[in-house]
Amino acid sequence: MNVRDLKKLADVAAALIYPPRCPLCDRILPFGEQICPCCREDIVYEREPRCMKCGRSIRREEGGADRVYCRDCEKHPHVYDFGYCLADYHSVARAIYRIKYRNRRESARWFGREIAGCLGKEITDLRPEVLVPVPLHRSRMRKRGYNQAADIALGISDRLGIPVRQDLVIRQKNTIPMKQSDNAQKRRNNVKNAFQLCTDDVKYKRIIIVDDIYTSGSTIDAVAAAFRGAGVAGIWFVAIAGTHL
Ligand SMILES: [Zn+2]
Ligand SMILES: [Zn+2]
Repeated sequence: MNVRDLKKLADVAAALIYPPRCPLCDRILPFGEQICPCCREDIVYEREPRCMKCGRSIRREEGGADRVYCRDCEKHPHVYDFGYCLADYHSVARAIYRIKYRNRRESARWFGREIAGCLGKEITDLRPEVLVPVPLHRSRMRKRGYNQAADIALGISDRLGIPVRQDLVIRQKNTIPMKQSDNAQKRRNNVKNAFQLCTDDVKYKRIIIVDDIYTSGSTIDAVAAAFRGAGVAGIWFVAIAGTHL
């Protein structure tokens, strides 16, 4: 038996012990499948007209195609350059919940690959040197055992080959989880100075920050601020889902 056969056998064994589940509905999938075809149709992908800053679709009530930025980004300037969200939050909310609280790490990885599949050109055109997942505070990391943003980043890396660096920045402040009702100002205060670089000498000039949900952008801005302070010129982000306050 050669190495390839062994690898295939290992995959089959792993699939028997941990049968792959659909990232959307959580049902066990037939071997070799990654998502139920009908579930993929349920994902509402962000589409044009997109906000040129945060990448969320500009809703009709906001003025649709007549606007360059969404209402949030028009009101509030951001530290990051711009970014992309894959899908509307409501269509993937349960999937993200399971990624965060039900140990569905493989789903996070699938979403990363999906981000690469749908936004690959946009991402590679930026010529990023590294992907930087938004870090968890060490106490939450201990409790959860994994950082879902890192799994998403690894999924992107699987397809685009951009390295993932989890050791550049830490979350030094254990921020309180925000509720949907919390406003943008409260969110900004919550994450202010929450992140600190692990090195004085960041040798990268172009980075993409990776997170699961984009709401007000305050978390991405706080991470971006740390890198800006170190002279990083190009700072973009990608997220699975964009939602509005
Ligand atoms: Zn499904
Ligand atoms: Zn926006």
